[in-house]
Amino acid sequence: MSAGSFNPFQMAQSQFDRIAELLGLEPGMCQLLRDPLREYHFLIPVRMDDGSTNVFRGFRVQHNDARGPCKGGIRFHPQETIDTVRALSMWMTWKCATVDIPLGGGKGGVICDPHNLSAREQEQICRGWVRQISRNIGPVQDVPAPDVMTNPQHMLWMLDEYERLSGGHAPGFITGKPVGMGGSLGRTEATGFGVIFTVREALRELGIRPQDTLVSVQGFGNVAQYAIKLHTEFGGRVICVSCWDQDDQASYAFRKMTGVNLDELLAITNRFGGIDKAKAQDLGYEVLPGDAWIEQEVDILIPAALENQITGENVGRISKKVKVIAEGANGPTTPEADKVLAERGVYLIPDLLANAGGVTCSYFEQVQCNMNYYWERDEVLGKLDVAMTSAFEAVSEVARKRKMYQRDATYLIAVDRVARACRDRGWV
Ligand code: NAD
Repeated sequence: MSAGSFNPFQMAQSQFDRIAELLGLEPGMCQLLRDPLREYHFLIPVRMDDGSTNVFRGFRVQHNDARGPCKGGIRFHPQETIDTVRALSMWMTWKCATVDIPLGGGKGGVICDPHNLSAREQEQICRGWVRQISRNIGPVQDVPAPDVMTNPQHMLWMLDEYERLSGGHAPGFITGKPVGMGGSLGRTEATGFGVIFTVREALRELGIRPQDTLVSVQGFGNVAQYAIKLHTEFGGRVICVSCWDQDDQASYAFRKMTGVNLDELLAITNRFGGIDKAKAQDLGYEVLPGDAWIEQEVDILIPAALENQITGENVGRISKKVKVIAEGANGPTTPEADKVLAERGVYLIPDLLANAGGVTCSYFEQVQCNMNYYWERDEVLGKLDVAMTSAFEAVSEVARKRKMYQRDATYLIAVDRVARACRDRGWV
């Protein structure tokens, strides 16, 4: 979430308050669920390459574990704040409950900028983070994962430190590890494919064939690329993608009415994720301003880049032709835009559902690690399809029966499941 005056935790709490009222939750339950169960703040001293010592601030927040061990990423970011971590941990609780996996919500972070740190210094931060919190996390308590600016290598250093401290192999301690070192096949594709599994179901409900759809996507990273790949395999046509250009410090949209070709675009994408504009033009793409993705005459919009992208100001630019919006990114739509989309009857597949393929596959990784038996890619993706489809059906049924906007229906299911688990355990 962006920094500044915007406070993501206040937003997460007010979303919860609204649903708690709809569900008629008792005051004790509201008090329990609107704050994290536990949070840890700690310091990580690191001997830097120049011999000096830097002290980094680390966090782990465990919002709720009534349904299972907490699950959530660790973010390295210079603007990391405890309120961001709190909000993200709460959203993880709801996301795991939405897809009905037996996990709770957690999130962690370190205030640091990996761009300015050597690999050795980053390794020391990873190991230091685990040393500070190892007694309170683990396969049956809280299972971390990568997030913004953390990757499989960071996860492996963290696992190694945890195993040193606990004295045995425990690959289920953390997910997002490299394949061959406890990682799961299919994890790379999982979020983008999961988005398209839900889009496929929404189209089925609307009586539209994927082959008859045009799509515009914001972003060209992990989620966007695999969403484009699968939707194209289903016969749909993606006509516009957008991405951030590091050199120009601006975003651009790339449009080809006959359909973008993923492989040809990947071949001209640099390591920062920017598409080469001149080469794209040579290949017949129109290069447009970055925000052009939102105003395309398409059936489906997939915001898969950042939060806060469909707002009260630009929601009016969305074409009347758009029938489905699938939120690949977390929090891309503001509450003001939500109101307009709900009134227009756009079929929204909210982030808690649309991008839950990532955490679902992380859960599969954990299961495989705990069994020490690893599945084939097709088995992973088949199980993912089943999980995403049944989560979609549950949301769609509530939305239909209660005539609710899909985001509200998703929250209603998720919060209700977590509240029931707390009640059944006798916590409230
Ligand atoms: P990524 O870093 O691989 O890709 C991000 C993309 O967004 C890049 O192509 C970048 O160029 C583009 N971008 C950045 N600023 C932009 C702008 N102003 N306009 C257009 N494009 C812009 O990230 P990702 O893993 O694909 O994640 C994308 C979103 O999905 C994030 O909100 C993330 O939190 C969410 N998400 C990711 C996963 C996952 O498994 N990767 C899971 C759940 C949610």
